[in-house]
Amino acid sequence: MFNTLSDRLTSVLQNLRGKGRLSDADIDATAREIRVALLEADVALPVVRAFIAKVKERAKGAEVSQALNPAQQVIKIVNEELVAILGGETRRINLAKNPPSVIMLAGLQGAGKTTLAGKLAKWLRGQGHTPLLVACDLQRPNAVTQLQVVGERAGVSVFAPEPGNGVGDPVDVAKRGVEEAKRAQHDIVVVDTAGRLGVDEEMMRQAADIRAAVNPDEVLFVVDAMIGQDAVNTATAFSEGVGFTGVVLTKLDGDARGGAALSVREVTGQPILFASNGEKLEDFDVFHPDRMASRILG
Ligand code: GDP
Repeated sequence: MFNTLSDRLTSVLQNLRGKGRLSDADIDATAREIRVALLEADVALPVVRAFIAKVKERAKGAEVSQALNPAQQVIKIVNEELVAILGGETRRINLAKNPPSVIMLAGLQGAGKTTLAGKLAKWLRGQGHTPLLVACDLQRPNAVTQLQVVGERAGVSVFAPEPGNGVGDPVDVAKRGVEEAKRAQHDIVVVDTAGRLGVDEEMMRQAADIRAAVNPDEVLFVVDAMIGQDAVNTATAFSEGVGFTGVVLTKLDGDARGGAALSVREVTGQPILFASNGEKLEDFDVFHPDRMASRILG
C-alpha cells in the first residue's frame, strides 16, 4: 500500500538528515519534492497546495528544539500535517440514542459495499451489537444472494425482498427492513444500496430516496482507494446527490497510490471512518489517521 509515495517521501526526508541548520532554500527544495511525490500519488491539487503551504510555513517558523534536529523537525511537521489531512482524530461511528440505528452504504458498483456490509456486521457483532443487513441493491444480479452469503459468514440476519415479486422497490425494502429490525430487536440496521459503474442520476435519486425514507444515523460513502483522483470526483458527486456523513476506503491492500485516501477527507469535509484491506471479513478496521500517516512515512 502506498509504496511509491512512501518510498518517495522517505527518500526526500532522508536527504535532510545530517544537515545542521536548514535554510529557507533547503525547505523550499524539500517542499517541491514532496509536492511532486503527492501529485504523482494522485492527491488532488488543492489538497497538495494547502499541505505544502502549511509544511513550508511551519518548517520556516520552526522553533529551535533541543530534542529534535532540523531534519527530525521537518519529518515531525510532515507527519502531523498528514494526520491532519487524514482527519486528525479517529471519529467513532454515530449511533442513535433510541435503537435501531440505521447505517446506509452508498457508492459505485464494485466499490466493495456488499463485502463491507458483511465486514461491518461482523465488527459490530464483536462490539456487542445485533445488526440486521438489509438488501436494497436490487439492480445488480446476485447482489441479494451475495449479501445473504456474507451475512451468513458474518453470522447475522439478512432482510431481503421475497423472491418472485419482481425487482421490488428498494425504498420500500429499506423501510420494511427497519420495521423488521424493530420487531426482531436488532439494534443496528445496515442498508446495502445499488451502485452503478459510473455516477448516474437515477442511482443518485434512488439513494437519496432511501436516505429520506429511513433517515440514517450514518450514510457511509464506500470508495475504492485504487481509483485515485476519480475517487474525489465520485465523492463530490455523491456528496451533492445523496450527501454522506462518513467515508469508508476499500482495497487498501491493493497498489493504491494514496490519492484517494489523502484527498477525500479534505475535499468532502467528511471523515474516513473505516478501512478495508482485503476480501476476507476480517480485513477491516476502524480508520486511524495517525497510523495511516506513519505507514505513509515508512
Ligand atoms: P459492491 O458492488 O460495491 O457491492 O462491491 P462488492 O462488495 O461486490 O466488491 C467488489 C469486488 O471487490 C469483490 O470481488 C470483492 O471481493 C472485492 N473487494 C471488496 N473489498 C475489498 C478489499 O478491501 N480488498 C480487495 N482486494 N478486494 C475487495
